[in-house]
Amino acid sequence: MFTDIDKFYLKMALEEAELALQENTYPVGAILVDDQFKVIAKGRNGVHTNNDATAHAEIEAIRNAGETIFDAKIHNRSFTLYSSLEPCPMCTGGILFAKIQRVVWLLNDDLGFGGYQKMKDAAIFEKKFDRIEMIAEPDEELKNRQLELMHQWEKSSNHVSHLRKEVSLVLPSGGEIQ
Ligand SMILES: [Zn+2]
Repeated sequence: MFTDIDKFYLKMALEEAELALQENTYPVGAILVDDQFKVIAKGRNGVHTNNDATAHAEIEAIRNAGETIFDAKIHNRSFTLYSSLEPCPMCTGGILFAKIQRVVWLLNDDLGFGGYQKMKDAAIFEKKFDRIEMIAEPDEELKNRQLELMHQWEKSSNHVSHLRKEVSLVLPSGGEIQ
């Protein structure tokens, strides 16, 4: 079930995504909320900010939650992870390890590294996925705001297409790095 409270936290995740874009990295933000709807941790993409290919918003949020995650696992508390984009395979793994029980995201990522839906559909770790409530693209307006951030990101100097162009300029052969 999708509620106004969920929408409130998706907006918060979107704010993190906007901050990430300002920092010239992938515009993805994530908010981890407990069963009393209290914010436990926030995260935003830090791939280019920290030069860390694994610094994804969802992983950052889980990491920032620290021991609270283990406390929730022990007491079987239902945490919700809100993300502005569908989690990739790595973040989906993080969600399973952290035993997060609800996942809500704004925009599917079929053409990119969206992994949650694919892993769930593949019926691997089926019992683990069965325990998680998944809500994808519940709000059209907020989804479009994330889509707009993704379009803005394509213009960023750190976007891979621009980085490759820079490399091909300095290669004597003018060849492209595969
Ligand atoms: Zn990820």
